[in-house]
Amino acid sequence: MARSGYEAGMKMMEELTTNAEQIQEQVLEEILGRNAGTEYLRRFLRGETDTKLFKANVPIVTYEDIKPYIDRIANGEPSDILLDEPVIQFYRSSGTSGGQPKLIPTTAELANKGAIFCTLLQSVMTKHFGDLDHAGKIMELMFTKPVIETPSGLQAASVSTSIFKKSGFRTISKLYTSPIETIFCSDTKQSMYCQLLAGLIRRDEVVTVGSTFASTVLRSIKFLEDYWQELCSNIKIGQISDWIIDSGCRNAASLILKHNPDLAYSIENICSCKSWEGIIRKLWPKAKYISAINTGVMSQYTAELEFYGGGLPLVSGFYACSEAICGINLEPLSKSSDVSYTFLPNMAYFEFLPMKKDCVTISQDQAQFDGLSRHESIEMKTNNEDTEPVDLVNVKPGQCYELLVTTSAGLYRYRVGDILMVSGFHNNTPQFRFVERQNVILSIHVDKTSEADLLKAVTEAKALLDPLGIFLTGYTSYGDTSSIPGHYVLFWELKGKEGNNIKEVDPKIMVECCSKMEESLNYTYKMYRKENEIAALEIRVVKQGTFDALMDYYVSKGASLSQFKAPSCTKSMEALKILDSRVIGKFFSPKTPI
Ligand code: AMP
Repeated sequence: MARSGYEAGMKMMEELTTNAEQIQEQVLEEILGRNAGTEYLRRFLRGETDTKLFKANVPIVTYEDIKPYIDRIANGEPSDILLDEPVIQFYRSSGTSGGQPKLIPTTAELANKGAIFCTLLQSVMTKHFGDLDHAGKIMELMFTKPVIETPSGLQAASVSTSIFKKSGFRTISKLYTSPIETIFCSDTKQSMYCQLLAGLIRRDEVVTVGSTFASTVLRSIKFLEDYWQELCSNIKIGQISDWIIDSGCRNAASLILKHNPDLAYSIENICSCKSWEGIIRKLWPKAKYISAINTGVMSQYTAELEFYGGGLPLVSGFYACSEAICGINLEPLSKSSDVSYTFLPNMAYFEFLPMKKDCVTISQDQAQFDGLSRHESIEMKTNNEDTEPVDLVNVKPGQCYELLVTTSAGLYRYRVGDILMVSGFHNNTPQFRFVERQNVILSIHVDKTSEADLLKAVTEAKALLDPLGIFLTGYTSYGDTSSIPGHYVLFWELKGKEGNNIKEVDPKIMVECCSKMEESLNYTYKMYRKENEIAALEIRVVKQGTFDALMDYYVSKGASLSQFKAPSCTKSMEALKILDSRVIGKFFSPKTPI
């Protein structure tokens, strides 16, 4: 982005954040002006457009509450039952409902907001890193997901897939190292191979390396560990491997792949080093930063990404969801643990449900020192029943809130499911740290597994033990990201129905339990599992008495004995030590779930 462009973008940012209150009021008035007559809002507003009435009468809802309307639109009823503007497509969110991705309506107006957001984001990046668009290429790893068609003929796709499919993306695709055909290859392995190949071929031009999420960048490094020799051999002889059979990928590769032994040797030299510390910087020496969201669940990958980055800044640029674009990180050079997102008051009407008690802002290290996971400590302190939401400009520093959005695309006081903490203000607009996704206990990539999802999967799997006369007497879980891709680990304590101690279990049946659990988990888990973004689920059978030892530990840390219940998920180092020291068998799911 040229200097004049970024200055205009930064000016817009200043105006938006200075006039947040008026802009929010305007956004809500516009939404009500257009949508008050819809079947949905008429139930609460009787056609009125008054913003006070909106707050008094329109209920706070979850996806399940509006799903009947969304399903009707997806099945062919006119969209004006929910929103005035025609729905042009649905976004498929990584959050699920009844095991399936949520469908979020989208409109032409929202697409325009997306374009404004991109300008603002790019302005912030240009301000901090200079005009990189003209300095070289962006090595961004991009993947698409299947597009489905609803019975009404409307398409449903993930936000990123929708962006890549737009004609506007084709015009800017020359800024990236990845040829567009490789992004659209439905086989993730071939796509990843060819995108890495393209990034290596142009390694001297690459000015940033990244992907939307930190987990994908790490996954690509792991992939490179496995394939660098083959990639180098392709570069050496100027020919792509035979197993790349996707015609788009082959054609794209043939256009950029030239016989280049010197390049191959220099990559081999770097990759054959024993330690891969700083590998990203070594392979792409002109890169100025690594762009990838590394807040929220992605913060589990920060340390590893820093190791491979060799000092390159990690930039977590924005906070957005299928429902709305929310905020931008105005300080892209800030430490991952300090990243805050400044909300954009023109993107949606935002409200915030205060959590009854302040959320605990102890660091992960402190939490682990205390023997409690961050998730557990926050969960114990939060509850937002019976509280009234507050407007964007009225939130209080240090306080945690659950985010509600009202958009022109048919979401009214909709619970996004994210918990945010106010870290400060930029002009009159608050900045938020991402605290956690509500009701998500396990997440390796963008999968979101709730306590209820996990319980359902455990219940279905443990039924396989019934005929053997074996009970499951306790379970807990954690997301193991010590290797990439990470995987779900379940600790199971078993007991014979006759009261007998279980010293050994039939490995075949335990492997089946692993498979059954994976089959029972939700769509998003299974999709990423198939793409190997998540590795095979593992069950670790622990000795009898382990969950008693776990309880003793929690009681020693202050939990009440009478109220104690083993957490469905734990991140506490101490608890994991107790569990791991009592493992008597480890079993893995042998195949990807159907
Ligand atoms: P989706 O609806 O599939 O687009 O996923 C959106 C969700 O991803 C959000 O509701 C958040 O839970 C999470 N998310 C998006 N951006 C960030 C971010 N910058 N930091 C942490 N979590 C994020």
